[in-house]
Amino acid sequence: MKNLVAEIREYLMEHHDWFSKSIPLIASENITSHAVDEACNTDFSHRYAEGWSGERVYAGCKYIDKVEDICMNLANKYFKSIHADVRPISGVVANLTMYNALTSDNNGKMCCMSIIRGGHISHGPRFAKSGREIFGTAGTTRGLNIEYLAFDNDEMNLDIDASAKIIREFEPELVLFGGSVFLFPHPVKELGDVAKEVGAYVGYDAAHVAGLIGSGYFQDPLREGADVMTLSTHKTLPGPQHGTLVSNREDLIDRLRSCAFPALLSNHHLHNVAGLAIAYAEMLEFGKEYHKKVIDNAKALGQALNERGLKILMEHKGFTKSHQILVDVAEYEKSIGLGGDIEKLLESSNIILNRNLLPRDLIEGRHYQNPGGLRIGTSEVTRLGMGKSEMVDIAEMIKKVVIDKKDPKKVKEEVIEFRKGFQEIHYCFDTSNKAYEYLKFY
Ligand SMILES: *Cc1c(COP(=O)(O)O)cnc(C)c1O
Repeated sequence: MKNLVAEIREYLMEHHDWFSKSIPLIASENITSHAVDEACNTDFSHRYAEGWSGERVYAGCKYIDKVEDICMNLANKYFKSIHADVRPISGVVANLTMYNALTSDNNGKMCCMSIIRGGHISHGPRFAKSGREIFGTAGTTRGLNIEYLAFDNDEMNLDIDASAKIIREFEPELVLFGGSVFLFPHPVKELGDVAKEVGAYVGYDAAHVAGLIGSGYFQDPLREGADVMTLSTHKTLPGPQHGTLVSNREDLIDRLRSCAFPALLSNHHLHNVAGLAIAYAEMLEFGKEYHKKVIDNAKALGQALNERGLKILMEHKGFTKSHQILVDVAEYEKSIGLGGDIEKLLESSNIILNRNLLPRDLIEGRHYQNPGGLRIGTSEVTRLGMGKSEMVDIAEMIKKVVIDKKDPKKVKEEVIEFRKGFQEIHYCFDTSNKAYEYLKFY
């Protein structure tokens, strides 16, 4: 067993070493500051604190309550909400809490974006159903009936008129906006009005774009008509892996609270609540600057790749208004392969990004395992201090692999050299902190 422990440690070290020499471009990922890591590695991780702050089921919670109160206050300040539940242990748990609170137990009905258009697995009927069956102890034992909103492939956004028709005909209880492939703000105002016409609640899944929203960019769902907004805390928001649910509906607070606990949670990973409180503090201080740069970098990377001959979607709209861009790689099918193949090639060059299904794949019959697209995000490289000129460097390295068909091992050497200049985490209070240094403390 001792050998296995050494082996695990070895893998962790190697992983850190690899990532410290790579360009991290996965759109759903980010990196936390040392202050956040430190909080996540405290005794809070050993403790239980079921229930709401001040009303715990366990003893020993007096400092835990203080930290959780700060976390809720900071989340409310960041999102300009009156109710912030920082207990959901992930974005999915926050979504399930929202479903349980806002749809009925029997044959509840929801409209949302389909998964193949960029919705999340937790928006799928099978997941929403099994999620409720497995976890739904708040009297929710039945699945959701889901009708997908209409999507406009040319605009890479929801089709307002066609979606309005679907909402009016289907009469859902909840209309959910947001998704995982998310270039442009969703028409929350326009379709939210239609939702209210049929008596539906409006939800917004901000898992990907929470940081952009909190810092005042992208869109402002709670002011555009959303009753509830859910999020992951580790994508554009650079916190530990966790979730949050926010709302401005005073009349819904009790229901939302009780649909989280006792329903989908027992303990809620208190160390991550502590780390999250620090991440909210960091973003209240540095988020305006950081998230502007994230979006500027996404546009700049789109532009630089486009100029080098890669096909970036939505050029006529400036590629994106978020932290993501999408690349159409179908034309390389006969040379180096499709999205899955290119993902592997780039990975062997230490450029980490992921394949993505594009609307064109659906028409041409390609599978999500090896689709015709790539999704690239700029949250993490921005946090490592990169700006527009580095986006040009990254585009050049990607071009060498994809278009010039250079040996990935050669490009990898270039990536390693490039990354040497970007080893510190920015937009946080502890300014000189090296990424991936944790294990050196052991
Ligand atoms: C990532 C994501 C989630 C939830 O992810 P967790 O891993 O559970 O935090 C939910 N919705 C969308 C749209 C996402 O992209």
